[in-house]
Amino acid sequence: MTEELLRGGDEVVVYDSLYKGHREAVVEGASFVKGDLLDTELLRGTLIQHKVEAVVHMAADSLVGESVKAPAKYYRNNVLGGLSLLDAMREAEVKYLVFSSTAAVYGEPAKQPIEESDPTQPTNPYGETKLAFERALRWYDGAYGLRYVSLRYFNAAGATERCGERHSPETHLIPLVLQAAVGQLPEVTVFGDDYPTPDGTCVRDYIHVVDLAQAHVRALHALAEGHESAIYNLGCGGEGYSVKQVIDCARRVTGRDIPVRKGPRRPGDPAVLIASSARIMRELGWRPAHQKLDAIVESAWRFMQNKR
Ligand code: UDP
Repeated sequence: MTEELLRGGDEVVVYDSLYKGHREAVVEGASFVKGDLLDTELLRGTLIQHKVEAVVHMAADSLVGESVKAPAKYYRNNVLGGLSLLDAMREAEVKYLVFSSTAAVYGEPAKQPIEESDPTQPTNPYGETKLAFERALRWYDGAYGLRYVSLRYFNAAGATERCGERHSPETHLIPLVLQAAVGQLPEVTVFGDDYPTPDGTCVRDYIHVVDLAQAHVRALHALAEGHESAIYNLGCGGEGYSVKQVIDCARRVTGRDIPVRKGPRRPGDPAVLIASSARIMRELGWRPAHQKLDAIVESAWRFMQNKR
């Protein structure tokens, strides 16, 4: 996100507690403030000091399994933390917000591809807390004139030359598959191969982080130009890719053998999650440039090799 904004000539202040992030991931040319989202005073001071015009809110806990075991953490960081940010923004008179939401707000989807008007019935506290914040935004818009774009990400993946996935613990499929390719992991476990999909494994809609970031830039510009508040899905569309297809793709891209083990289903995984991204394409003119899975996996592979 920071790379895209700087490229477009914007000034960027990164506000991060570094509880999960990495100081060295803050791109040269951006200012940095180490702080917690719940520290409303520091947030307000930062917004005022840097004359911030708009906020991109990407700070949240985001592990489905953990959220079921520790809902208090998710309500605190994702809901209370978000409200603290909104308070700071009101006090500093910052009017525009782009929010990282998630496909998890839909729960078990009613149909595919999923449209923004489909029912939202989250099946875990992660999705529930993201939806709670989205709902708050609507009321804050009505009462305080806060204008927002909420972007419901499907499977964010891939990397730039400079930044890529570095989670601890790592739970996402593509980085795990690449770790298995270089022998950092003995194998990849496929979570279930008896789903009602063409090859029995779950199908997901993978979207390149650069396409994702460009959608945020468009959303920021649209808000500045007077666009009303909106909610958009963000996926690549198309048919999506199965877990097996991701593994085969990584074998092609890396030229390495990737050992695979069959495991049980992961609780709460819907068989298929595919976005309709027609609304953001129509209203903001956004188009994903990296629709092929190979391009996404290649970029993640390059990032991983640069780091080694
Ligand atoms: N997955 C898998 N093995 C793993 C990690 C993930 O089979 O070690 C599957 C998971 O069940 C899901 C897909 O890969 O169907 C994508 O999972 P990921 O955690 O990357 O993203 P999510 O869909 O949960 O946002």
